[in-house]
Amino acid sequence: MKRRSAFRVAAPEGLDPTERWEARGACRTEENRAQADNWYAPSSNREAFNAAMRVCAGCPVRAECLDAALKRREAWGIWGGLTESQRRGILRKRQASAEQQAA
Ligand code: SF4
Repeated sequence: MKRRSAFRVAAPEGLDPTERWEARGACRTEENRAQADNWYAPSSNREAFNAAMRVCAGCPVRAECLDAALKRREAWGIWGGLTESQRRGILRKRQASAEQQAA
């Protein structure tokens, strides 16, 4: 499966891309864009992994980013300050909760 970049999210038709939340992401600065691989670093690469996590922790659109990643079931990388494993955990809990309510 091909990895998608956190920095190439297309704006929906009819919307000014500069008004999208993605444009306000802390990872969009020139300095952080140069370190884009950090968002896909294995957790064993602590320096890169922690650098991406620190940027996400201070991001003004972290909630929007996480919500979007959960909606599209993003399989790779750090989004909204969470790893793919952490996001899968949220999705499993949501699924279990939905099944419990439906029962
Ligand atoms: S939460 Fe992280 S990945 Fe998402 S826009 Fe902000 S800095 Fe980028």
